[in-house]
Amino acid sequence: MNALVNFAKIFKFHGGVHPPENKTQSTQLPIAHLPLPEKLVLPLRQHVGNLPKLRVTVGDKVLKGQLLAEAEGMVSAAVHAPTSGIISAIEDALIPHPSGLPDKCIILVPDGRDEWIAHTALDWRNADKKEVIAQLRNSGIVGFGGATFPSHVKLRTDGKSSVHTLIINAAECEPYITCDDMLMRERASEIVQGIQIAQHLLGAEQAVIGIEDNKPEAAAAMQAAVIGTNILVKVVPTIYPSGDARRLAFLLTGQEIPHDKRTTEIGLQVFNVATVFSLHRYLDFGEPAIQRIVSVTGNVQKPQNFEVLFGTPLHHLINAAGGAKTNTTHYIMGGPMMGVKLPGDDVPITKAANCIIASAPNLFAPPPAPLPCIRCARCAEACPVSLQPQELYWFAKSDNFEKARDYKLFDCIECGACAYVCPSNIPLVQYYRYAKSEIIAADRAKEATDLARQRNEFRLQRIEREKLERAAKHAERAQGAKQENAGDSSRAKNDALEGKQDAASSDAVPKVATSDAEKAAKQAAIAAAIERAKAAKAAAAAAGETPKNIEPASSVVKQEIAEIDARRKTVGLEGKQDAAPGDARKAMPEVDAEKQAKIAAAIERAKAAKAAAEAAKKEKGE
Ligand code: SF4
Ligand code: SF4
Repeated sequence: MNALVNFAKIFKFHGGVHPPENKTQSTQLPIAHLPLPEKLVLPLRQHVGNLPKLRVTVGDKVLKGQLLAEAEGMVSAAVHAPTSGIISAIEDALIPHPSGLPDKCIILVPDGRDEWIAHTALDWRNADKKEVIAQLRNSGIVGFGGATFPSHVKLRTDGKSSVHTLIINAAECEPYITCDDMLMRERASEIVQGIQIAQHLLGAEQAVIGIEDNKPEAAAAMQAAVIGTNILVKVVPTIYPSGDARRLAFLLTGQEIPHDKRTTEIGLQVFNVATVFSLHRYLDFGEPAIQRIVSVTGNVQKPQNFEVLFGTPLHHLINAAGGAKTNTTHYIMGGPMMGVKLPGDDVPITKAANCIIASAPNLFAPPPAPLPCIRCARCAEACPVSLQPQELYWFAKSDNFEKARDYKLFDCIECGACAYVCPSNIPLVQYYRYAKSEIIAADRAKEATDLARQRNEFRLQRIEREKLERAAKHAERAQGAKQENAGDSSRAKNDALEGKQDAASSDAVPKVATSDAEKAAKQAAIAAAIERAKAAKAAAAAAGETPKNIEPASSVVKQEIAEIDARRKTVGLEGKQDAAPGDARKAMPEVDAEKQAKIAAAIERAKAAKAAAEAAKKEKGE
């Protein structure tokens, strides 16, 4: 069990930068609501993990909050109808991704009624925690800080590690973004209720909210809202990237989380402030994740925060912000440090869209041409993960990917602090992304090759095993036939002696091994006999002799054959050919009927004499 945290001190992590904040533009007005757009485009892929499974078809009428696609597999998130309407299509459409590639989307045409599906609160305090978390699986809630990792997965406790401290990430360290700031200012008490839900489900004894000191209104609102609870509000210095979960955990606890460990392994769990707000809406009202707060800022007429339904086209949102100024070149989703350039203004707002920045040359000057690295090491000083960005750049540029991996390329959080300070204007993060994708592709290719090789090895092993099994079966059948032949002859003679030829015919069927043990014993005997035969053959060959008739495999069989031969002599069958296996009766017609009668009479006489002798003995009292 990890020790509880003393929050008396704020720690400082290595590196970091402080770019111009540009946050006040979008915090002058309260959070606004949008009119319903003409259509909503809901990508199935709005989160980290598996694609959810469709639960609607084209033409379906749906209500607000209705499940459209359910979580599939362990890491996945559901998609719900943000309003009531008709599913007009399920097709590929442009999504907010820098690739500009389309992806599968549900197109919903609102009916204007905005009619909710029946929904209700869940008594999460008294319900079984596992059941509550299972219900959250189809809440559609993901990390709304931008990571979009399904929240129900983070609330599960695996039994190996326990969470003692819940950290609420309200740092919002990237320039321009203010959605969390405004959420805290306007809905602080609801956030506190969400924190209590997460704390209860995780079983965390402590909960602390980390807010940067450039949001005094939000910090004051939260301070007021936590009165009477055991939740702490801690104000941390404004430095980028304090909003990274590991950096914030360090700022608040002083605990460095090794790159190969999860925060839960040291008893911490981190949730974004907007995520816990959504937990409250779902469990206390039954409302799934259908909307979020989005900052619309940069080169727009009226920067503001909006409560936006998922699937709303970007141009609808830009219009609500007074429209973009004429020199707007493109839109960025996220902040200027880690955000992505959008392929156009008709992409939909998704769960990851915390901020939309209209970009223009006066706000973001085109990057100057990169110059050679001068090994000034400013990038290393700025790196919050204490990496050597200039070395990583060198290895990535020269395609020396293994070296880049050795220099902990995958610890890089792509924060861009190194590129921000680089005097040579080298787009360092692009190089790291390139190297990472190449390494991941190579690893996947190797995995696929290893898998193919393994499959081939299994296939060859199976073929060999089947071959051996077939050979063993052949040997078994051959041995069975020999025994049957011998058994037939023996029984034929006995039957002849007993005068029961007809009854003997049914006994002529060879005995079949019924149990596995019998079969195994039989196979072992066959294998041993084959080995003896081989040895005899080899010995004969070594002695320069032509091998004679190989002895019968088993001594039992050998003895049976000797007995049969002896009996053949007694009944006058000496020198006659044995019948074919399984047809003992063919041998019998050669036995003379008169002779048979004589034999039978002799036997009967002998029996009578023996019985008379025994009766005489009894009378004498012997
Ligand atoms: S800051 Fe730029 S120029 Fe300086 S060492 Fe790093 S990569 Fe090279
Ligand atoms: S982008 Fe990577 S290498 Fe550059 S400062 Fe951030 S963590 Fe360090």
